Amino acid sequence: MKYYLAIDIGGTKTAIGVYDESGAEKYHGRIVTEPNDGCAQLIERLFRMTQDVLKEYAVVAGGIACPGPLDVESGTVNNTTTLGWVNVPIVQMFSEKFKLPFTLINDCNAGAYGEYKMRNCRNMVYISISTGIGGGIIADGKLYNGQGNAAEFGHLHVRGGKRLKCGCGREDCLELYASGTAVESEYYRLMGKTLSGVDIADLANIGDPVAVAIYNEVAEYIAEAVVDIQKVLDPETIVIGGGVADAIPFRKNPSFQKLGQYGVNVKFSNLNGRQVLLGTMYYIRDSGVFLGKGESYERHQEILRQ
Ligand SMILES: [Zn+2]
Repeated sequence: MKYYLAIDIGGTKTAIGVYDESGAEKYHGRIVTEPNDGCAQLIERLFRMTQDVLKEYAVVAGGIACPGPLDVESGTVNNTTTLGWVNVPIVQMFSEKFKLPFTLINDCNAGAYGEYKMRNCRNMVYISISTGIGGGIIADGKLYNGQGNAAEFGHLHVRGGKRLKCGCGREDCLELYASGTAVESEYYRLMGKTLSGVDIADLANIGDPVAVAIYNEVAEYIAEAVVDIQKVLDPETIVIGGGVADAIPFRKNPSFQKLGQYGVNVKFSNLNGRQVLLGTMYYIRDSGVFLGKGESYERHQEILRQ
């Protein structure tokens, strides 16, 4: 039996999963990321977890999902603000340490691939709404990576009118109005109190009017962006996931019911945050990353059948 290792490095938590070749989860571990501790310390902790897992399972390849921007070709995390990492050659570090092939994938792209593998379609878009907003595009059954950072839906322009400056250099990007960070700052603006996104979602779920109003507004921005995405890519399904999208008033917002008239088929994720690990595992399995350079995908399929 062959096993695959998937690592999902996030701004608040980092998860490790081991899967067999059918996709069944054999191990799941989770640690708090603590970005202030820096990159070296987190990688050291991940090395220890990986070491323990490799003693138990005959892992043939590993995948690391990370927030962008990334250089997936060289396996380098370029400049990830949520983690405070700059130019970290993470693939080389893991490959050399464990003498295994590793690959790097944008975490939202991995989430898209995980959602896609659970659904019966060929063309799908995934929008992830958490601290920031990202996503992934599945085109004709394959993950569309662009140059490595495709589907940055958080930087679609919205009619917010506040002229908020985005880290990307433009004004009024979607994630300034509809991300977890936006939910927190809007709550602070209205109530003068700092609460975490999770706390505000809890309030919204029990009907707190301010929290409900914030999530309703977020849903309206997302619904508009979803129509734009439909018009450009025409997927069969658009899946919305991430912590913000789990809040009940968000999911129940009437804007989403009206999307049918624009030909949009919206679904909400039900993978409870596991889509990134699952997608990373399926991605390395399906793309045959554990093969040496020059070996074909067909050869990979042949190995899987053995
Ligand atoms: Zn932007």
